[in-house]
Amino acid sequence: MAVQTVAGNAATPGTTTTTPSVDLGPAAALSCRECGERFELGPLFACASCFGPLEVAYDLPAGSPEELKARIEAGPDNIWRYAPLLPVPADVAQKPNLNPGFTKLVKADNLARELGVTGGLYVKDDSGNPTHSFKDRVVAIAVEAARAFGFTTLSCSSTGNLAGAVGAAAARAGLRSCVFIPHDLEQGKVVMAAVYGGELVGIEGNYDDVNRFCSELIGDPLGEGWGFVNVNLRPYYGEGSKTLAYEICEQLGWRLPDQIVIPIASGSQLTKIDKGLQELIKLGLVEDRPYKIFGAQAEGCSPVSAAFKAGHDVVRPQKPNTIAKSLAIGNPADGPYVLDIARRTGGAVEDVTDEQVVDAIKLLARTEGIFGETAGGVTLGVTKKLIEAGVIDPALTTVVVNTGDGLKTLDAVSATSQATATIKPSLDAFRTAGLGSA
Ligand SMILES: *Cc1c(COP(=O)(O)O)cnc(C)c1O
Ligand SMILES: [Zn+2]
Repeated sequence: MAVQTVAGNAATPGTTTTTPSVDLGPAAALSCRECGERFELGPLFACASCFGPLEVAYDLPAGSPEELKARIEAGPDNIWRYAPLLPVPADVAQKPNLNPGFTKLVKADNLARELGVTGGLYVKDDSGNPTHSFKDRVVAIAVEAARAFGFTTLSCSSTGNLAGAVGAAAARAGLRSCVFIPHDLEQGKVVMAAVYGGELVGIEGNYDDVNRFCSELIGDPLGEGWGFVNVNLRPYYGEGSKTLAYEICEQLGWRLPDQIVIPIASGSQLTKIDKGLQELIKLGLVEDRPYKIFGAQAEGCSPVSAAFKAGHDVVRPQKPNTIAKSLAIGNPADGPYVLDIARRTGGAVEDVTDEQVVDAIKLLARTEGIFGETAGGVTLGVTKKLIEAGVIDPALTTVVVNTGDGLKTLDAVSATSQATATIKPSLDAFRTAGLGSA
């Protein structure tokens, strides 16, 4: 059952409380992104006054930046090293969860040469997470919120990776799970979502239909006691993406990158990476200098990119048609905030064709030995396009986020990635076929 403590805390109307009745560490309240109104921590996601999205507000740790840095560096090699900056209880690392994060930041010198980047090019490779996508970060935080609010079933609307991350995290946490996906996803995503033993439901429709269905389910008695990680737990879920920003800066030696390229589905990840960078500046953990954020979409689902290029503040929904299914959200909830961030930081939002996505997947594999999923192809494809257009500066430090594993989207490259030849087991056959010179 959803525990919603409103009366218990005896907050005087019109005042805000900094002593929430649930223990989510430094999280103090929820606050509206639009009007700033504050609410007690709970499974809320929209402002009661203006319907704006809610986000977590903190009592951030006191003490010097050096003390905080030392505390973080002494922490575990996963996202819980940043627990003082996340809405999680202090003993979170002792609870049963998948401990995602602290993935590799790969210095991609071969790729840099190929793209003409001289200022340092890095791939933040989130395919190394427990279920092989960045979604383990956001789910790990949502699980703590679900526990705090007494939810017994973990759920989500998913473009594929989230369903797997929720299934796995629920299994480990001892919660029930029931997750919803569009019926026509890649086999790798479906199997990975189903194998953990929860309920997996294919919906006849696209992601936006799945999401609408979940909103209805939340309001129905059937959905009582359910924590939808990206709906009624969305403010907490989103905070998980801040850890990408923290890790990138720590791995660069507590330094901001100059440019960072991030894929966009709902836009949550991009907006929270920006929030994470802002927090590091505010806490004095990195030097305050300008950085640019670039967003990446597939042409077949490019509502944010289209709005950016047209100079619009609102995002007009699209009907997705692309091989980058993990990014196929035609009506992205955080689209307007992505536009704000790209414009405020001097970045951009761009899109690439499915063909360019495939080329970029193979480019990353060929140069750096990293096999990214289609979302990774979108991000690297957009990086390449923006370098060629003179928008991304090759003389500056650039980080490209690879958010998922190519094994989940084999279809994208299987037609053009096959055995070079099949031969009899003899040297003669090998020689006759003209092989061995690659
Ligand atoms: C979900 C997802 C994203 C980004 O999602 P947002 O909704 O924008 O946070 C990026 N890459 C992959 C592989 C994903 O699964
Ligand atoms: Zn509001």
